[in-house]
Amino acid sequence: AKTVGRNCNVLFTPDMQQVLTRRRRLETRIWEALHAQEFILFFQPILSARTKQLEGFEALIRLPDGFGEMISPGEFIPIAEEIGAISRIGDWVIRSACRFAATWPEHLTVSVNLSAAQFGRNFEADQGLVDVVLQALKDSGLDPHRLELEITESLVMERTDVVLSELKALRDLGVSIAMDDFGTGYSNLSSLWQLPFTKLKIDQSFAKSWRENAATVHPILDTIASLSRSLGVNLTAEGVETQEEDDLFTGLGCDQLQGYLFGRPLPPADMAAFLISHRTP
Ligand code: C2E
Ligand code: CA
Ligand code: CA
Ligand code: CA
Repeated sequence: AKTVGRNCNVLFTPDMQQVLTRRRRLETRIWEALHAQEFILFFQPILSARTKQLEGFEALIRLPDGFGEMISPGEFIPIAEEIGAISRIGDWVIRSACRFAATWPEHLTVSVNLSAAQFGRNFEADQGLVDVVLQALKDSGLDPHRLELEITESLVMERTDVVLSELKALRDLGVSIAMDDFGTGYSNLSSLWQLPFTKLKIDQSFAKSWRENAATVHPILDTIASLSRSLGVNLTAEGVETQEEDDLFTGLGCDQLQGYLFGRPLPPADMAAFLISHRTP
């Protein structure tokens, strides 16, 4: 194939073929895992910045590839979104996360990531997002105040009105809303502030760029911190990997910290031991 002219063989290079094959395999694997309930939730600890006590976990989905490896959500979530599988996966995540959290000590919360397609379903035969959450809370017995849903700026910007009304309904249930990956979107701040969220999560890229260029990044972080204070929302720093970053974000007045310094996402089998070692009096 390499003997064909310069621009003619691009579609069928061996590399391309491999990418397409992997992609097709992933699509099949996603549907298969959905029907066989083979997705797995890992849980990453979230700590109080001030006391360093455990306050909750973020649920992070994994897809076993069937050969002993985990496929990361960064790879398969965008595909699941494209092939229309994400809202069913997302419903499963909500139900499972609530069921897990109901077995934890009662002061601990669980945070669940949402995709745009999970909103705006209440006009179809499907159960809408609010009903799914309500049902998951009922079935698990989890106090709504222990559930937090994470959305992103881009998710909101895609469908502002639908998202807004469902977020309000979720807040009315007592569920918390976190604005995830804050600072990576280029949203219209004045419309962003009209959303009923209760927490800002500073994107982990800020920790990384602060490591590289503290003088430039510090004032930006300071601004985000004072914004969150004047809005009366909680502030969480993600991607905290070093003691210096802990000191930075704690010093800036963050309420909570999350990152490898405190714990990687834990497989379900490791949760019991972790909870015992982080028991609070
Ligand atoms: P996210 O919501 O921003 O989650 C944080 C990601 O950063 C996780 O990657 C986590 O493992 C990783 N992380 C945590 N602490 C550190 C750290 O100190 N350093 C570094 N370098 N990374 C850290 P993960 O688990 O691969 O998830 C990637 C993304 O996939 C998530 O980003 C989220 O957007 C999406 N995702 C995960 N689970 C779900 C889900 O159930 N539903 C949806 N819709 N998306 C999900
Ligand atoms: Ca998140
Ligand atoms: Ca994030
Ligand atoms: Ca992210």
